Amino acid sequence: MIFKSILTLFCTFCAKIYKSTSARCYGDIIGTIATLGSHSALNILRGAKDEGFSTVLVAPRGRTFYERFGVADTIRYVDDMPSFLQAASAHLPGDSVVIPHGSFISYLSLSYIEESFSVPVFGNKYLFKWESDREMEHRWLSGAGIPVPRSFEGPSDIDRPVIIKLFGAKGGMGYFLATDEADFRKKSAGVTGSYQIQEYVIGVPMYFHFFQSPLSGELELLSIDRRYESNVDALGRITGADQSQLSITPSYTVVGNFPVVIRESMLETVFDIGERVVRESKALERGGLMGPFCLETICTPDLEIVTFEISARIVAGTNPFMPSSPYTYAKHGKDISCGRRIAMEIKEALATDRLAEVTT
Ligand code: AMP
Repeated sequence: MIFKSILTLFCTFCAKIYKSTSARCYGDIIGTIATLGSHSALNILRGAKDEGFSTVLVAPRGRTFYERFGVADTIRYVDDMPSFLQAASAHLPGDSVVIPHGSFISYLSLSYIEESFSVPVFGNKYLFKWESDREMEHRWLSGAGIPVPRSFEGPSDIDRPVIIKLFGAKGGMGYFLATDEADFRKKSAGVTGSYQIQEYVIGVPMYFHFFQSPLSGELELLSIDRRYESNVDALGRITGADQSQLSITPSYTVVGNFPVVIRESMLETVFDIGERVVRESKALERGGLMGPFCLETICTPDLEIVTFEISARIVAGTNPFMPSSPYTYAKHGKDISCGRRIAMEIKEALATDRLAEVTT
C-alpha cells in the first residue's frame, strides 16, 4: 500500500516535470517568430504556426491584407518602419527571433543590422553585405570555383552579348542588353550612376533555393523557381517584326514566380555548386551560410549552370512552395515549405539550447 502511494506520487511528479519541459520546448507556444509584412511573410508565418510558434508581423500602416490570412497572431502597423526596427527589442516579445527577407534588408543600413540591431536574426546577417555589393558578390561566387558570367571592366572590352545592370536597381528595372561598344553607347545615353557589365548567358533562368542547416551541417535543396519578369517574358508573344516596330526595350521587373523541377541527372551538379558556395562563405564570415539561400543561375543548352547572383536569406521564389516542394517532400516525407523549414531549425535549436548557433 505504502509502496503504491510512493509510486503514484513519483509518477505524478515525473508527469509534472515532463509537462513543464515539453510545454517549454514543444507545447502550444514555444517562442515567437517575427517578420515584416512583405516579400515572403505569408510563407514564413504559416511555417512558424505549423511548428507551434507565436507569430508577430510588422506591417506598413494600410497594408491590411495580412489579416485575411490569419497567419499573424499579432500585427503591428507602423508609420515609420526604420524607427520601429531601431527599437525592435522594446516592441517585440522577449523570445522573438526575426526572419530577415529582402524588404528587411532594405529598411535598415547593413552596418546598423550588423552592429546595432538587437533582436536575434535567423541566419548569418554578416553575409548580407556580400550579396548586396556586386563586386563582393562576384568575389564570393568566383572564389567558390563555380561557373559565373564574365564581367567586363568597361564598354570597350565588350566582345559578346552583355547585360548592363545598374547598381541599386530594384527587381532588374532599367537593365539593358548590348552587343558591342557602339550599341552600349547608344543605349546608355541616359544612364547615371554605377553599373556592371556582365556577359549575357543564353539559356533558361533557374533559381535554386537551398537550406544549409547550422545544426546538422547538411545542405538541402528546398525548391527551384523561375521568375515572371515584365516585360521580357511577354516578348515571346509579340512577333519580331512587331517588336522592332513598337521599339520595345526589354525590362526585367519581377512580378511573380513559377515552380520548376530540374532534369534529375543535373542534381549532382546543383549540389556541387551549393556545397562550393557554402564552403567559400565560411572563408568570408564566421559560420558562413546559415539557413536559406538562393543561387540565381542560367542553365545553358550544354547543361552548364552559370550562377550570376546569390541571396543569403529566404527569397520570394520559395513562395509557390507552400505547403511543400518535390524536393522537401522527397527528403522529409512530409510537407515542408521554406518558412516551415526555418521554423523547424529554430524549434530544434530551442529544444537543444543551440539558438546562438542559428542566429546572429
Ligand atoms: P537580377 O536582377 O540580377 O536578378 O537579374 C534580373 C534578370 O536578368 C534575371 O532574372 C535574368 O532573367 C536576367 N539576367 C541577369 N543576369 C543575366 C546574365 N548574366 N545572363 C542572362 N540573363 C541574365
